[in-house]
Amino acid sequence: MTINMQSNLLNSKLPSTAVSIFSQMSALAQQHHAINLSQGFPNYPADPALIDLVEHYMRAGANQYSPTAGVPALLEVLSKKIQRLYDLQVDAKNEITITAGGTQAIFTIIAATIRPADEVIIFEPAYDCYSPTVELFEGKVIPVRLQGPDFKIDWEEVRAKVSSRTRLIIVNNPNNPSTKILDREQLEQLEELVRGTSIMILSDEVYEHLTFDGKKHLSVLEFPVLRERSFVVASFGKLLHTTGWKLGYVVAPTALSTEFRKIHQFNVFSANTPMQLAIADYLKEEEHYLQLPMFFQKKRDFLVAGLNETRFKVLPSEGTYFLLIDYSQVSRLSEIDFARQLTSECGLATIPVSAFYSTTLNQHLLRLCFAKDEQTLSAAIQILQKV
Ligand code: PMP
Repeated sequence: MTINMQSNLLNSKLPSTAVSIFSQMSALAQQHHAINLSQGFPNYPADPALIDLVEHYMRAGANQYSPTAGVPALLEVLSKKIQRLYDLQVDAKNEITITAGGTQAIFTIIAATIRPADEVIIFEPAYDCYSPTVELFEGKVIPVRLQGPDFKIDWEEVRAKVSSRTRLIIVNNPNNPSTKILDREQLEQLEELVRGTSIMILSDEVYEHLTFDGKKHLSVLEFPVLRERSFVVASFGKLLHTTGWKLGYVVAPTALSTEFRKIHQFNVFSANTPMQLAIADYLKEEEHYLQLPMFFQKKRDFLVAGLNETRFKVLPSEGTYFLLIDYSQVSRLSEIDFARQLTSECGLATIPVSAFYSTTLNQHLLRLCFAKDEQTLSAAIQILQKV
């Protein structure tokens, strides 16, 4: 009786949301002692020099609240980094805000922009937090479905989905899980689409440093019509191999940053102080971010070389620390069933790409994370070579 009354107490705001596929697959991996290439996190240590800096600041007493926007030294370093990488001026004081990770940044941007019945265009496959957050603020998700192997955007289709209610378009570049990078022409298409409208952009660029084969990441910040209406999301988890630290930042014009900070101050107030100070020192050395493409490209190439000796087809990975494999030569099972079977029977956990779509789709694709040490990647290759 008491139990029933309690379960009626809360009318879920997210009735169709369950435990995320990433948590599910990691749990299944643990249960079967499987190699885990499912969730996107490094399994090798962070740079001890960075950890020493955090310790230094903790022992020096920097253990209290920082300003809501972030530690000024870090804001300055980030503004310089943006200038170095994109040749752009970003005002450290008014246009950058430090957050408790990319996910919190995305949540707060959506909270700041979406009112009931506003429409948000989301390209699928899409990272899992976008849609539920839009739903939570009673916005309406308008999905644009892109399909493998090339996940090409049909801009006429996007144009047809824009309406007078469209408030926000979410792009993720480089894209998790497709690994695709938006080139200049694509971003110009986006610019044309929003020119003269009141549509804002949430550009999730958490993998900005992870682009391969000499391809340069282009930020929406470089396109004037996009710059004036965009929130750019970045994550120190990806930049510093420290996903558990949950730190990131948002770059947006002053007027948008002001609205962002109004909400930010009430859901986190401020982000972790000693880590911000440590990161500010650490990022003064450019090599710490300039060497990232090569670091991950080596891992990608190692995995691809091993996968070329299997029955799986590898889709080219342009960016992020993921790659997709096509298992249609191996099985006709659904992606989720095949991913479960691969975990429980063969000892390798991956992510079904169908988890990134709102409608059922079986492209026979799995996502593998290669932010792992060589031993783990070798073990995964050996498993796949036997399938
Ligand atoms: N966006 C994308 C596309 C991601 O892959 C992730 C992390 N997996 C995030 C945002 C979230 O970043 P953070 O871990 O800093 O919250």
